[in-house]
Amino acid sequence: MTNYVFGPVPSRRLGRSLGVNVVPLKYCNFNCIYCQLGRTRHVINDLRMFYPPEDIIKELEIATRTRDYDYLTFIGDGEPTLYAGLGKLIQWARNNQDKPLAILTNGAKLIDENVRSWLSELNVVKVSTDAGSEKTFRLINRPHREITFDRFIEGIERFREIFSGQIWTEVMLVQGVNDNEDEMKRIGNTMRRYKPDRVYIMVPTRPPAESWVKPPTSDVLINLARVLSRYVNSDRIFIIDYIERGEFHIDRNDPVNSLLGILKIQPMTIEQVMDVIKRNNLDMSILDEIRNFTKEVVFNGIKYLVYSSV
Ligand code: SF4
Repeated sequence: MTNYVFGPVPSRRLGRSLGVNVVPLKYCNFNCIYCQLGRTRHVINDLRMFYPPEDIIKELEIATRTRDYDYLTFIGDGEPTLYAGLGKLIQWARNNQDKPLAILTNGAKLIDENVRSWLSELNVVKVSTDAGSEKTFRLINRPHREITFDRFIEGIERFREIFSGQIWTEVMLVQGVNDNEDEMKRIGNTMRRYKPDRVYIMVPTRPPAESWVKPPTSDVLINLARVLSRYVNSDRIFIIDYIERGEFHIDRNDPVNSLLGILKIQPMTIEQVMDVIKRNNLDMSILDEIRNFTKEVVFNGIKYLVYSSV
């Protein structure tokens, strides 16, 4: 059974976020070295109708009526703007529920006029800016061959011209790749072009696609935030170097699928999964069932369960 809607889950940026997963596992136009979903299996850059929008709307109708959330967030097991039915879902959400709407996207499809028009109906569009140059862009995001760094930034810039909501951007810092002052100055110059409302400086906190990926140390992080504040007002810069705390919502009648719906989007620590089971007074044997669909990965000394479809 497919679960398109999951949570709400605690989000480091959006509070209690009710997620809508619109893309199957690892269809993306990037193949980021730090991706918590693993390496991209299908690097594509064309829009596809992965699922019938009506099926997703059916789940949304129930979830938006029965669950308590702060944001309705479009997301994917890959890049959500590659879903050809996204515009229809956004329209539905605009007309049928009253919570703010967000999307977590890498931003590369904003070069497409249709995608800009769909996303202009949202309240928050979170894009990624991990690089300030073509060279680092290719190293860290490993984009589809059609995507160049200039076109990528041009898309976000064009979107800024028509969008009255908030653009948030995330800079994921990886030790030895983009955690140096020169790259941060280039990233700062890039941000001057599209003026983000918020910048989140992040570090990998969950198991990454490439096992050699490491977060920078906290003093490097603080120094780079200082460098960036020459380009973006410091009250718009936030450092996030911790794992979310807070409650994950699951459907008590279908706990395994519900938990797997969350795990498809983000690895959870074993403690987090056990905490959900305990809080819902469910049997611990559920953990064994979850283990059949996940593998255990240790990152930064912490054990995670990572969804694995094979
Ligand atoms: S982090 Fe996001 S943009 Fe990068 S490969 Fe993973 S899903 Fe795609």
